[in-house]
Amino acid sequence: MDRTRMSSARPVPLRRADIPAAAGPPRRASSTGAVLGAILDHGPVARSTIARLTGLSPASVTGHCGVLIGRGLIKEGPETAGPRGLGRPHVPVEIDTARYLLAGAHVAVTHTTLALMDLRGRLVSEERLPHTSTEPAEVLGRMAERLPRMLAAHGSGRTALALGVATGHWVDPAAGVVLHHPQLGWRDVPVREVLAKATGLPVHVDSHSRALARAEQLVGVASTRASAVVLFVGNVVDAAFVSSGTVHQGPRFGAGNVAHLPVGTGDGSTTCVCRVTGCLQSEVSEPAMLHRAARQGLRVATFPELLRRAVEGEAAVVSLFRRRARFVGRAAAVLLDMFDPEVLVVVEPGAGRLAPCLAELRAVAAERSLVCDDAERSVVPSSFTGRVLATAGPAVALGALHDDPLGPWPALPAVS
Ligand SMILES: [Zn+2]
Repeated sequence: MDRTRMSSARPVPLRRADIPAAAGPPRRASSTGAVLGAILDHGPVARSTIARLTGLSPASVTGHCGVLIGRGLIKEGPETAGPRGLGRPHVPVEIDTARYLLAGAHVAVTHTTLALMDLRGRLVSEERLPHTSTEPAEVLGRMAERLPRMLAAHGSGRTALALGVATGHWVDPAAGVVLHHPQLGWRDVPVREVLAKATGLPVHVDSHSRALARAEQLVGVASTRASAVVLFVGNVVDAAFVSSGTVHQGPRFGAGNVAHLPVGTGDGSTTCVCRVTGCLQSEVSEPAMLHRAARQGLRVATFPELLRRAVEGEAAVVSLFRRRARFVGRAAAVLLDMFDPEVLVVVEPGAGRLAPCLAELRAVAAERSLVCDDAERSVVPSSFTGRVLATAGPAVALGALHDDPLGPWPALPAVS
């Protein structure tokens, strides 16, 4: 596809006509999507309650529920008495998890995580495929080859509705293309096209930070419905922003590159790929952590090993994660003041699993941020700690389903 017009060297300002139609108006949940969302949140739930939650008329809710039942996405539960035994008995509706699954893949630098998720957002199974090469054909080919076997082994006879794919850096969800992932060496990789052909499934592609922001909105713990910042710290360091209820994409789908926020002091730190010291990425990424561990004489081969040793309480390793937490806290403070979100979600395993790291991160964020008056409330670890990568892929598909449950989902019965 023609990427030249999206080049940063464009000679004229971005004009209205330059923005692809798909990127134009922000995505808004359809009424059917709003009903499905209310059922995901509150099911089993009475139709009258859904009407109150969504602001739709009871007749309209009944219509949407009929369509969703027809598609096999929700089902009626057993009849219940009215509240406190008063009022008319009602038949509540809930998400039907018996028929369909969502498949997902997260492509990290060293491995791909394949996962299956049910329609309530619960992981059914996950599997790690280490990369023997990062060639797109190889990575995508293995994913497509492995998926049917995983479905057969763990799907309990359910049908996959779609495949969601998430990865770091710069992803164009409208085209289904990974535009640029420097660490994988990927440029303009047509992931949707390749995987749709190889798997026969509808394929949705997005950045892992946007995918995790959507997952927090749909099935997360913290309040992220109206606004949120998701800060992802792994091999890749990037972010996603929720504003007015929508995960922000930007006309070039490039929002969220926070890797070069100048948070470091520069002394003794590694030089970033951008040739200065003290960038967020060069202080806190997984390679930076391994580099620092080696400089301190710690013998450690991989990041998962480093994390395991921190969780086991090895003092020198814990202090590395506490240092990381302080630098992430500095970035969190900048992002909190820039966006003033309901919450800032930190996707970082130290903050997710080690209480002193989260405390340290919150303390630095509170000390440096102007708007953060209660860091316990406004800075939270990922709802998916320990299963972040497994969640990211299928969350892309779950988000697409909720955006448009009446859309082209070939596995679902047609909408009459
Ligand atoms: Zn940099």
